[in-house]
Amino acid sequence: MRSFNALCSITLYCAFISDLFCKKYIRVCQNYADYLKIITTLEEDFKMNIIILGSGVYSGTPRPLCGCENCSRARKFPLYRRTRFSMYIPRIRALIDPSPDLHYHLEHINEKIEHVFVTHAHFDHIGGLPELQIFKHIKLYGHTTTLEVAKYLQKRFVGESKWNWKYFPLEFNKWYDFNFKIYHFKVIHQPIEAAGGFIIQIENKKIVITGDTGPEILNDKRTLKEIRNADLLVADMTHKHSISNAHLGVDDAIKLAQTVKARKTVFAHISHTNYTHDELEEKTKPYLVARDFMHINI
Ligand SMILES: [Zn+2]
Ligand SMILES: [Zn+2]
Ligand SMILES: [Zn+2]
Repeated sequence: MRSFNALCSITLYCAFISDLFCKKYIRVCQNYADYLKIITTLEEDFKMNIIILGSGVYSGTPRPLCGCENCSRARKFPLYRRTRFSMYIPRIRALIDPSPDLHYHLEHINEKIEHVFVTHAHFDHIGGLPELQIFKHIKLYGHTTTLEVAKYLQKRFVGESKWNWKYFPLEFNKWYDFNFKIYHFKVIHQPIEAAGGFIIQIENKKIVITGDTGPEILNDKRTLKEIRNADLLVADMTHKHSISNAHLGVDDAIKLAQTVKARKTVFAHISHTNYTHDELEEKTKPYLVARDFMHINI
C-alpha cells in the first residue's frame, strides 16, 4: 500500500513537472512567434513596393490593326497587353510619367497622387496629364521644357484657378533635396531635346528610371557613376536592337544592367515589334521583364 502511494506521488509529481514544462515551452514558443512576427513586420515596413503601371510604348500592345505575333497574342490573352509606360511609388505617392492610359492606371492605384515626375514630353509619357484633374494639389517635377508642355496641358484641359499645382523645374545632372532626393540625368532621345531619367532616393532606397534613352547612355560615365548600385533599375528595352539616339535594344539594355549592378532590374517600355514576353524573359535572365501592374519589392 505504501509503495502504491509512493508510485501515485511520483506519477503526480511527473505530471506536474511536465505540465509546468509544457506551459513554459508554449510561452517560449509564443514569445518566439511574436518575435518572428515583429521581425517580419519590420522587414516588410523596410521593403518598398513599386508598381509598373504600363510596360509598353506609344502604340501600346496590341497596336490597332497590327497582326504581329505580340499583338495577336495580346488580343487573345490580356496578360500580354501593354499599356503605355508609367510607374508608381506608393511610399511617397509618386507617379512617373502620366501616360495616355492614366485613367486605367489610376483605377488600379486608387490612391491620392502627390508627386508627378515627367521624363520627357513625348505623347506616351505626358499625354495623360489632364487625367490628374481629380487632384487639386500636386507637385510636378521635370526639365523646364518638359514642364512647359505640362503647364500648357493644365491650362488647356484642366484649368488653373481652382488647381493648386506646383511646378519644380529640375536642371540636368544636379541633386535636389525635397522629402526625398532626386537627380534628373540627361539622356539622348531625339528628336526631343530635353529628355532625362531620374534617380529617386527615398530613405535608403535608390530607384533609377532611365526613361526613353538611346544606347549612348552606355558611354555616359557621369550618369553611369551616379546610377551604379541602385536598388532598382527600370530601363528602356524598346526594340530587339538599339536605335542610335533613340532607344535601347535587348543586348544594350542587358549591358546597362550589368554595368549598373542594381539589386533588381526591370526592363520596360517594350514595343510590340520586340520579341515575345516569354522569349524576352529567357534572353534577359536573371533580370525581370515588365508587365502591366507588376509589383516589385525592393
Ligand atoms: Zn516612350
Ligand atoms: Zn503588332
Ligand atoms: Zn520618347
